Amino acid sequence: MALQPCTETPPETITADLPVLKERGQREVFCGLTGIVWLHRKMQDAFFLVVGSRTCAHLIQSAAGVMIFAEPRFGTAILGERDLAGLADANDELERVVEQLLSRRPDIGTLFLVGSCPSEVIKLDLAKAAERLNHRYFPKVRILNYSGSGIETTFTQGEDACLGSMVPVLPSKSNDEPALLVVGSLADVVEDQFKRLFDQMGIGPVAFFPPRRAADLPSVGKGTKLLVAQPFLSETVRLLMKRGAELLPSPYPFGVEGTTAWLRTAADVWNIDQERFEGAIAPAVSRAKTGLERYQKVLNGRKAFLFPDSQLEIPLARFLSRECGMELIEVGTPYIDRLLMDAEISLLPAGTALSEGQDVEKQLDRCREARPDITVCGLGLANPLEAEGLSTKWSIELVFSPLHGYDQAADLAELFVRSSERRRRLTV
Ligand code: SF4
Repeated sequence: MALQPCTETPPETITADLPVLKERGQREVFCGLTGIVWLHRKMQDAFFLVVGSRTCAHLIQSAAGVMIFAEPRFGTAILGERDLAGLADANDELERVVEQLLSRRPDIGTLFLVGSCPSEVIKLDLAKAAERLNHRYFPKVRILNYSGSGIETTFTQGEDACLGSMVPVLPSKSNDEPALLVVGSLADVVEDQFKRLFDQMGIGPVAFFPPRRAADLPSVGKGTKLLVAQPFLSETVRLLMKRGAELLPSPYPFGVEGTTAWLRTAADVWNIDQERFEGAIAPAVSRAKTGLERYQKVLNGRKAFLFPDSQLEIPLARFLSRECGMELIEVGTPYIDRLLMDAEISLLPAGTALSEGQDVEKQLDRCREARPDITVCGLGLANPLEAEGLSTKWSIELVFSPLHGYDQAADLAELFVRSSERRRRLTV
């Protein structure tokens, strides 16, 4: 096997200033382990083994809810007191657990060792462990590792770290012909819808990353065009660019406008003429617009406040303001990566209050003062704010539900209507 040289480093030419309120303080967010909940559903031959504490196991159990009863493809190797005190060799213990797991579950094709706060604190080298285990189990099982710890990752960054760990093992593209790579995990039904649209327009070949089976890795190299479906994949996109892929900057496929702009971005690269493009999207656009109408009427003119959680906040705010007529009080997000976000930011109404990071008490004060009609926030804040009379939307649902694309545009709007409707119905 020959070593592959890294191609040129990705260009980062964004220089324009952006007025953003940057805050650092107490945060109310999930750690990256939560990503396992949707990633294990997407990649059906993968298993996620968290190397962590009981706290980590509890987190995944509560986030995954009833899924834990359906022979899930995730679990926690719990570091006991003996491991933490250095009395046991954590590496030996881990090898034993992996051996047990793989003998019981022959269906596993890829095993992710997922780092956590405790495994990081005791400096357990999971990269080395993965390497050792690969010697033993590859090619039957491939072992990869990434960190989902709260020290290093916030919520959806867990997916970024997971996909990032797969980039080095993607096969190299055999030619320089253009090929589309859609990056970011999408529900299978959404993936199928997009695939049909690309086929109708004549865009191809198209591959999706992550794939449905972790063993079916898409190739990457010169000619690969990256169309990013989730805005939180900073590291993955940069790693793919280092392997020669080209980023197609675009708004994200939320709502009719976002989806059209996203598809158009790919269509332009493939020189698809306007008529063919319109012809392919027209039925879906008209369905989506009809579906959206009734929610637009309810949301129009209402005020929205978004707390930072998933990095989906900016695209969602764009959808709520431009397609639902909502007024944006504040759009908070954990991080702003200009490389992946500028196409979205330029669509926000001029002067939108953007905030990056969090000082939760200060942000709560701003929210209470503004009395928004809908507050998008994590589960930790939702019930307390409801008790104060504010309607809230749990942001976690925005990551778990299939919301990309035309046919899901109305479902997306409905999520924001539901909680205020419930409050209205319950008010006597
Ligand atoms: S990884 Fe860290 S933040 Fe996440 S559940 Fe485990 S201990 Fe908590």
